[in-house]
Amino acid sequence: MENLKASEAQRVILGAVATLGVESVKMERSLGRVLAEDIKANRNLPPYDVSAMDGFAVRSVDIANTPATLELIEEIQAGSLPTKTVQAGQCSRIMTGAPVPQGADAVIRVEDSKVISTNSIQIAVAVKPGNFIRPHGEHMHTGDVVLKAGTEITPGVIGVLATVKAAQFSVYRRPCVAILSTGNELEGMDEPIDPNKIPDSNTYAVMAQVQALGIEPVLLGIARDDPAELEEYLQRGLDYDMLLVSGGTSMGEYDYVRPCMEKLGVKMIFWRVQTRPGHPLTFGMTDKTVIFGLPGYPVSSMVSFEEFVLPALRHMTGNQRLHRRTITARLAHPVKTQPGRTEFIRVLLTHTDAGYVANTTGTQSSGVLLSMARADGLMVVPADCKGLAEGDQVTVQLLDGSAFQENVCYRE
Ligand code: AMP
Ligand code: MG
Repeated sequence: MENLKASEAQRVILGAVATLGVESVKMERSLGRVLAEDIKANRNLPPYDVSAMDGFAVRSVDIANTPATLELIEEIQAGSLPTKTVQAGQCSRIMTGAPVPQGADAVIRVEDSKVISTNSIQIAVAVKPGNFIRPHGEHMHTGDVVLKAGTEITPGVIGVLATVKAAQFSVYRRPCVAILSTGNELEGMDEPIDPNKIPDSNTYAVMAQVQALGIEPVLLGIARDDPAELEEYLQRGLDYDMLLVSGGTSMGEYDYVRPCMEKLGVKMIFWRVQTRPGHPLTFGMTDKTVIFGLPGYPVSSMVSFEEFVLPALRHMTGNQRLHRRTITARLAHPVKTQPGRTEFIRVLLTHTDAGYVANTTGTQSSGVLLSMARADGLMVVPADCKGLAEGDQVTVQLLDGSAFQENVCYRE
């Protein structure tokens, strides 16, 4: 397949990649992973009706007419059980989280009471039964599925796992990812500066994009534009779950990536997508490895990663939310666009009383990586857009953060 629309390319990719197997992890090491099993509650919480406030446990009928003076019969701390039943005209001092004693049906806050003497309390407010009581089982009941398989493990989820004492559980395996750069003109990080060369930034920008998803990739280095050398490097990459190759995917005389992959038995599924930047993207597979041929231009390779590799990696790791979270912003200035391809324009966002305002990061040349370094997000311009005016409402995918969403925002 050739020259797919962005959404078609994404559908093809997500249809072709599958979640990897599962493995067992300790709760303390599970942040960012995805649950591969349902987690159930192992007790009722709270185990009994508890006070939501520091105050007094009362019978609501006794304080219908205020102020009401009640006899104080005991003090109940969190972690202790009540020993007395609250009878007509009585109350117990109670702390947050302590069990509500027999007889009482409401709690009055300390702020709404006055100590008259050591065993006499005046209550200033009338309340309904249940006031400031957290009923037993409010949080969870034994056997409830509290977390479903497919849940991404956030700090809040860790708290729930600890609550049900899930010390170890199964999560989806993370893919092993290899990164390869190609091009005779490239200079490695540890090589001296050569005025005729271009520093290899793709290896590291893509490395960081993979790391941002919690995966530590393997860097294969730089392969020269020589079919034999390229084949050797590509062969090494086919040992991994995913191989990301940048450069050498366009139509130039020395763009050998596609023919070399075919020679190695990679089934090429598509090449080229209707996006700007990122047109020369290729996608292929073997039985074991998912292969992306990313465009060489540094911005293009990063944008292609965001749009196509990121959802694939999140799908492989069992996530339900595959796409960058989008927000709506107003454009601060007009933006020229070229109809025909879905465009991804790097923008800075500011928040105003009227919502988000987007400014482009300046030149959108695919070779100027600073536009990516400055960007808060990618403004997604539909393929049929003939230009944007100041104040137009636009959709922006947020580049940073760990918030993702289920649906993709392309309109074609
Ligand atoms: P290519 O797709 O190989 O034709 O490369 C397109 C442009 O991207 C060329 O100007 C390359 O020099 C540049 N480029 C390719 N790979 C890298 C890389 N790893 N780091 C920085 N620039 C690159
Ligand atoms: Mg090249």
